[in-house]
Amino acid sequence: MTGARSWWGWGLEEAAYEGEALAGIGGMLAHRFEVEASSPVDPVDPTGVALPAPRVQLPEALADLASRDAVDRLRHGHGASFREVVRALHGDVPRPPDLVVRPRHRDDVARILDWCSDAGVVCVPWGGGTSVVGGVTPPSEPSISLDLERLDAVLEIDQVSGHAHIEGGAMGPAIEARLADVGLTFRHFPQSWEFSTLGGWIATRAGGHFATGPTHIDDLVAAIGAETPTGRWASRRLPGSGAGPSPDRWLLGSEGTLGVITDAWVRVQPRPTSRVQATARFVTFDQGLDAVRALTRDGLLPANCRLLDPVEATLAGAAPPDCTHTLLLLGFEAPERDLTAETNHALELIRGQGGEVVDGPTARRGDATGTATGGAGAWREAFLRGPYLRDAVARLGGIAETFETACTWDRAHELVATLRETAQRAATEVCGGAVVSVRTTHAYPDGVAPYLTVIAPGPRTTGRPGPAVGRAQAAAWDEVKVAVSEVIDAASATITHHHAVGRDHRTWYDRQRPDPFARALRAARSELDPAGILNPGVLTDAAVGPRSNA
Ligand SMILES: Cc1cc2nc3c(=O)[nH]c(=O)nc-3n(C[C@H](O)[C@H](O)[C@H](O)COP(=O)(O)OP(=O)(O)OC[C@H]3O[C@@H](n4cnc5c(N)ncnc54)[C@H](O)[C@@H]3O)c2cc1C
Repeated sequence: MTGARSWWGWGLEEAAYEGEALAGIGGMLAHRFEVEASSPVDPVDPTGVALPAPRVQLPEALADLASRDAVDRLRHGHGASFREVVRALHGDVPRPPDLVVRPRHRDDVARILDWCSDAGVVCVPWGGGTSVVGGVTPPSEPSISLDLERLDAVLEIDQVSGHAHIEGGAMGPAIEARLADVGLTFRHFPQSWEFSTLGGWIATRAGGHFATGPTHIDDLVAAIGAETPTGRWASRRLPGSGAGPSPDRWLLGSEGTLGVITDAWVRVQPRPTSRVQATARFVTFDQGLDAVRALTRDGLLPANCRLLDPVEATLAGAAPPDCTHTLLLLGFEAPERDLTAETNHALELIRGQGGEVVDGPTARRGDATGTATGGAGAWREAFLRGPYLRDAVARLGGIAETFETACTWDRAHELVATLRETAQRAATEVCGGAVVSVRTTHAYPDGVAPYLTVIAPGPRTTGRPGPAVGRAQAAAWDEVKVAVSEVIDAASATITHHHAVGRDHRTWYDRQRPDPFARALRAARSELDPAGILNPGVLTDAAVGPRSNA
């Protein structure tokens, strides 16, 4: 990863849409929604944003780990959801951390947690800051953002067992580069892979972009090491174990509330050299869902099994603008195995559900990560550029955000239809128009994970660019998000399949999880973190609030 990171939005500053490309997006929005083209807002100069002085100071022994730099604090004052990004664009970061603290090794983490507990200062663990659910946003109490970027090493590789021991702050590209040296891959590729960390993936139960098989971080973790305010937590590295509830499962999805994940042993594998891809089309999305169900019920494990409705297919450039079909992007991959038999079987099942194969099957040999062609290649490119497009829409006064869920097959068709209609209606009511697209991200023998994108012209605001404009855009999205979240809850689907709970999903997560479980979680929190300093408000209310005597 090279180049300067954007302090307010996604990724690298140099990769953002600017100039003609940005104006072109503005023109498309204006044309699609029949509104006047907006001039893009420039991000405020972060050095000009007035911040309150830090309320806390680390003791001398730890002081060199802390940054009081205003831009650093601003960048750590928000995550990467649309609602936070569009406010940050206007310099509206209401609760920056008092300090950004960067431990050099896990002993530093333990000492910092000790100090936070004694001083009653909140500690918000920070991996890459790509949370889209308010998971890294500091509360109003005095706080530090604990940025793990210096804990970024691949410590050891056990080639015999296929395990690697990696520090929690390591990001996707560094992990893959080190493993590639020895012909291995971790094969966990969330869309945010370039800028997110192993610790963050574990803390949020991240989902990689492969549609089936071991793609969730849950399945790829063999042992976890964490520092808690009351001591070190390290599990044994095992291929499996029936010894009581799994300590790793406790930390998976703990979102920085039980401890700081400093390192983990993960399962790695030989790099795939055998690949096949094909594209099929269906007259309706429902037919496509039936085909995906048929594939997964049959035990097939395609790496790519992405169903795109016509809007999604068009937005991604995987189909021409007049496309009325649903597309299924299908791909298999394996270290060496010939994939002809399973591909042919999959295509037979697809045809049996009314699908028509329009591209492929195309087989490729060799280490060919990222060389997909045709519809799959176009879709991959759009997938990687998607977050930059979202930032461009934010600058143009619009709304661009996604939401996701999962449900069993018996409810899938109805839920997708209701979510699409609800998002369309809610966004149109608030913004006067909307484009809503649907795709599936993950498929299981018993259900599917639908993922929806909403693009809208944004609320009509008057006056000069400023925090009020960003807040109006964020509030407009919030209305849509509440409407669709109520539908998800009413269908007993999950409020998040892989984006985590954070602060933003609390209302619906609190309804989803069993009450005794919530009590157990709070009790675990208070045992591990008696001073209530770890990410209060995320996942549950802390059993005790942080008491500030800083
Ligand atoms: C454009 C975009 C695309 C995305 N695509 C995907 C996707 O494909 N799949 C997916 O699952 N998610 C995706 N996400 C969401 C996000 O990237 C994931 O939740 C990711 O796992 C967060 O990792 P991070 O290192 O950035 O963690 P952060 O955002 O820094 O933190 C996330 C949460 O984990 C806690 N945390 C972080 N590090 C640690 C640690 N070491 N110990 C304890 N707690 C910690 C934080 O306190 C916070 O609560 C996407 C987000 C964006 C903006």
